[in-house]
Amino acid sequence: MKGLYINTDFDIIKIKNLSMGFNIDDKFYYALENINLDFSKGKIHAIAGESGCGKSVLINTILKILPKNAIIKSGEIIFDNKNLLNFSEKEYENIRGKKISLIPQDPFMSLNPLYTIENQMLEVFENNKIQNLEKVKDALNKVKIKNIDTVLKSYPHELSGGMKQRVIIAMSLIQNSDLILADEPTTALDVSVSNSILDLLVELKNMGKTIILITHDLSIVSNYCDTTTIMYLGEIVEKNNTKDLFKNPLHPYTKALLGALPDKRGKKLENIKGQISPITEIINGCKFHPRCNYVMDKCKIEKPEFKHCVKCFLY
Ligand code: SF4
Repeated sequence: MKGLYINTDFDIIKIKNLSMGFNIDDKFYYALENINLDFSKGKIHAIAGESGCGKSVLINTILKILPKNAIIKSGEIIFDNKNLLNFSEKEYENIRGKKISLIPQDPFMSLNPLYTIENQMLEVFENNKIQNLEKVKDALNKVKIKNIDTVLKSYPHELSGGMKQRVIIAMSLIQNSDLILADEPTTALDVSVSNSILDLLVELKNMGKTIILITHDLSIVSNYCDTTTIMYLGEIVEKNNTKDLFKNPLHPYTKALLGALPDKRGKKLENIKGQISPITEIINGCKFHPRCNYVMDKCKIEKPEFKHCVKCFLY
């Protein structure tokens, strides 16, 4: 099979057989099932799919920012040769926001409305806060913020969404995070601003950072990402180099997502039939079968295995 997914010895993070879910009304429901992923260093890796496919839950599991009813059933998340899932909350404090940073969907949620940007950025340092002001300015300069002195004196509500995202990216630069998790970072922004934030992610990659980009927008994936993982209802259904995945999509869900992209005139070509089910709905066999145009009898009973780069009985 052509175009196998990159799997090198230079992986920054490896997720092995990860399964987790939530207790809802005394019943356990899987949100992620048997996730296996390796992310190589210095690349932008997309995780894509519709809302409810499990991509944000995956990011939150890596950062261990989960609600109380979450249960991790099995698996490992290997980072720096250690399994993060064995870390105590105290140990996680040295990882979260430091070695691994998050660029959230809504930047306002990550900034404290009561403090100026300067105060918040200097908080990143444990000591010598005043001497570190130059480092803060340097980071803001790298994320192309103009009027740095004015921005430093501003409160979050005085900045636009794009400016707030730049501040958060600058904070990850100060922390020198190796891995940046970007959860739909442009959803709340205008197109022109969102393109400039995505260009900034490419610059971070060129500095050697690794970015995992969560998105439902496949046009962003094709323009900015090196590898692509497609998720559906908590499972990986296809993963490959972005170029190969777009040239030769295999899984019917990937084909449907690509078919739903707007054409050159901005017109959507096809709609994907049906809707993604809630995790509380148990679907036997292949989870995509109620929406699949190629469904066969056995798809309704048996679960396909993930082979090479796709999880589907057609291959
Ligand atoms: Fe469709 Fe069957 Fe493949 Fe699932 S296994 S995607 S239902 S053809």
